Amino acid sequence: MNFETVIGLEVHVQLLTKSKMFCSCSTEYSDAPPNTFVCPVCLALPGTLPVINQQAVEYTIMTALALHCHIPGYTKFDRKNYPYPDLMKGYQISQYDAPLGQRGWLDIEANDQRKRIGITRVHLEEDVAKLLHRTSVNGESYSLVDVNRSGVPLMEIVGEPDLRSPEEARQYLMKLRSIVRYLRVSMANMEEGSFRCDANISIRPENSTECLPRAEVKNMNSFRAVYRALEYEARRQRKVATEGKRLVQETRGWVEKTGKTVSMRSKEYAHDYRYLPEPDLPPLIISQERVNDIESRLPELPGTKRDRFIAEYRLSTYDASLLTSSREMADYFEACLKTEEIKQLPQGKRAKEIGNWLLGEASRIMNAKNVDISEFSRHVGPSQLGELIVCSHNTINTATAKAVLEEMFDTGKRANDIINQRGLSQISDAGAIDAEVTRVIASNHQAVADYKAGKAQSIKFLVGQVMKATRGRANPQVVTELLKQKLEGE
Ligand code: ZN
Ligand code: MN
Repeated sequence: MNFETVIGLEVHVQLLTKSKMFCSCSTEYSDAPPNTFVCPVCLALPGTLPVINQQAVEYTIMTALALHCHIPGYTKFDRKNYPYPDLMKGYQISQYDAPLGQRGWLDIEANDQRKRIGITRVHLEEDVAKLLHRTSVNGESYSLVDVNRSGVPLMEIVGEPDLRSPEEARQYLMKLRSIVRYLRVSMANMEEGSFRCDANISIRPENSTECLPRAEVKNMNSFRAVYRALEYEARRQRKVATEGKRLVQETRGWVEKTGKTVSMRSKEYAHDYRYLPEPDLPPLIISQERVNDIESRLPELPGTKRDRFIAEYRLSTYDASLLTSSREMADYFEACLKTEEIKQLPQGKRAKEIGNWLLGEASRIMNAKNVDISEFSRHVGPSQLGELIVCSHNTINTATAKAVLEEMFDTGKRANDIINQRGLSQISDAGAIDAEVTRVIASNHQAVADYKAGKAQSIKFLVGQVMKATRGRANPQVVTELLKQKLEGE
């Protein structure tokens, strides 16, 4: 029997506010000693009252609007009750039946086709404490609680089960991360836990609408982990079903080391959260003017920007997608296009050239040095890159230009200064190269004979010898032309 995979994702995003969701404690706890960013409100001590962080509300509305959600005029907070050591209060303030964002969508590209994935809801809640599991010297395991994270604003985005493969799930997640980063509402870093994903996955016989019992998979800390966990789970569920065994509804944890998911708890231990309206907070009324105002301030989002890059700069869909994958990269690209330096190139060439350099050598350097585009820009700004690109057309060849870019990054010097100081400018005039070409022909009898005997490849060796002799400063096209002229003229 053939099965279809059905996946729906729940994503928790930590919001980039200065203070926590319901108190004035700082959210910048990452380097703080444990249990130092805490107050009576985030511990819910008797007599304290929470106050709603309006910045977090705004960030959530921004995200909900970017995901084409409806923002209702009336929303509220609810108590979600469950006993767990990471929850000091015994309940989490969340949103139950009146979330801030409702019924939206997000488009992904699946097999080169646009596919619309439904967004069920976007709601606002608070983060919980962090548990650190340790083992003592005599082998006893114990856990420590750090409440610094308790009460940090957390936005939850619940998607419809419209995804049909781990690849679609990965795409959806990457799109979502790109959007919240464009909006600058979150760092959205999976490894650091500011962007966390739980996945509901089940299978169903082809042509059926009834899914077999689903698994909820947790503990995935990277895009790769999500992809691998879903691949594993889709395979496991098919195997169980094909062997005629029964699947059970359960929560499973991804174990990175073994590359497997393991059962954590089954449905009979499912929580009954006993939701109730949060008695300490008034309802949250969102006026249409406020929604309109927030909407008018939304930045251009990745999908729109990509389509504009294709139309305005005649870039390929692939290049435009990569260049708009982060707002900072797209901004750098457009800043470079506006520099005086790049204007020395014909207009039709500029966008393509900048794209090639950014996605090629600049990206290679960023990967090798483990820096992002913002950090790269502090070493090599848009006008410096523009200058280098122009040099790569006029005074130096591509290989030299790549080395110069790396030196620019390392030293902060400008391209022309490096080229002048190190005497790198290309010898394009045929007369100057002529002598080297003659010398190379005279001293490489074997290669010359091979070429004349029809081995066309030999010319590459001879070109290489001239390039070596000129320390890479000769224009390889000019060298090849000259060599051919001489060899064929002899
Ligand atoms: Zn606090
Ligand atoms: Mn949640």
